[in-house]
Amino acid sequence: MPPADCLFCKIIAGEIPNYTVYEDTQVLAFLDINPCAKGHTVIVPKKHLATLIEMTETQWRATLEGVRQALRRVEAALQPDGFNIGINDRPAGGQVVPHVHWHIIPRWQGDGGGSIHSIIKGKDAGDVKETAKLFK
Ligand code: AMP
Ligand code: ZN
Repeated sequence: MPPADCLFCKIIAGEIPNYTVYEDTQVLAFLDINPCAKGHTVIVPKKHLATLIEMTETQWRATLEGVRQALRRVEAALQPDGFNIGINDRPAGGQVVPHVHWHIIPRWQGDGGGSIHSIIKGKDAGDVKETAKLFK
């Protein structure tokens, strides 16, 4: 059972209004209420899952197809110069709403924003050669 107070479950259920960008049986994409850029869109799986690691392969596929469709809608409406697509996963990753979701952020030349690399430049990023040993 999803938590009764989940904001995105309430949006999916129609209890809180949204500006829909794309919808199918598996996902809902809507305009972010506090946009980082014009057309900032949030894509949520309709089934409540708190974090990425809980998602099955089928749910990943369906949600990413929703992301693809939403991206096409945003592209058609706004013709941005580029995009950032991101996920804030768990509090350490900046997640505020505990219902897994993707962000599509349209970008324009000279908009003053950074790249994915500007999220963090961790002092504990480690030595790549050492990290690679963990994947052997
Ligand atoms: P996150 O920090 O990744 O959990 O992002 C949650 C996002 O949900 C934020 O960008 C909020 O601006 C957005 N948000 C919160 N409430 C609403 C709402 N009622 N409608 C649309 N977006 C919302
Ligand atoms: Zn939820």
